[in-house]
Amino acid sequence: MSGRKPYVGGNWKMNLHAAEAEALAAGLADRFAKADAPDAVDVVVFPPFPYLSQVGQIIKDSPIKLGAQDCYPAENGAFTGEVSLSQLQDVGVEVILTGHSERRHVIGESDVEVNAKTVAALNAGLEVILCVGEKIEQREANQTDAINSAQVSYGLAGVTAEQMSKVTIAYEPVWAIGTGKTATPDDAQLAHNFIRRVIQFGLFEGRADIAESVRIQYGGSMKPGNAADLCSQPDVDGGLIGGASLKVDDFSA
Ligand code: PEP
Repeated sequence: MSGRKPYVGGNWKMNLHAAEAEALAAGLADRFAKADAPDAVDVVVFPPFPYLSQVGQIIKDSPIKLGAQDCYPAENGAFTGEVSLSQLQDVGVEVILTGHSERRHVIGESDVEVNAKTVAALNAGLEVILCVGEKIEQREANQTDAINSAQVSYGLAGVTAEQMSKVTIAYEPVWAIGTGKTATPDDAQLAHNFIRRVIQFGLFEGRADIAESVRIQYGGSMKPGNAADLCSQPDVDGGLIGGASLKVDDFSA
């Protein structure tokens, strides 16, 4: 037993409209209230920005946390189209997703930007889920460990030991996101254990406690049929879920 509480995130991405987002939030809040052990797992949902307030109102009396899919690290000012951390906190956001592969590889966000967002969110007192993971060509070139090591190290540069209690890592092999392909439980375990060792020996040497307590979610086509096998691995502490988070039954399972 690792002693780490499993943590599950639902990344709704750029999906759903208001009525659907409200129905999903209400369904999850209801399901959570009826769960056998509602405290057995931490849960966060990441709705699209326009629906954060509405979803926040619906889940506010449930243990489900409200998360934002992105943020901008400046406090305020002339940043057209961006959303600040204090604005997100204003509508009840507690968790920020940083480094998601779609932001890195579709939007073009760099490690420097991912780090700035991670540090700013933690400095604002928010929790962060930092996503890392290799592309298929990097896996085939045996660069999986190097990519994960670099993304974890750059992403967490400047983060203090104390702030690590508010950090979760999501290992999301890019080739598995939204593709229906999933890492095998053994491959996921290898990557998760490697990431834990990067934190232990590369970032916080001498602080094995930090490496042992940080939660590492798996992400990439996780669904009811494969979640139990993946989560049974000793270093897999839950999941970050895209497609299967859009249905109450699938996400709850
Ligand atoms: C994700 O968006 O982080 C993700 C893992 O998506 P999916 O579950 O659809 O692969």
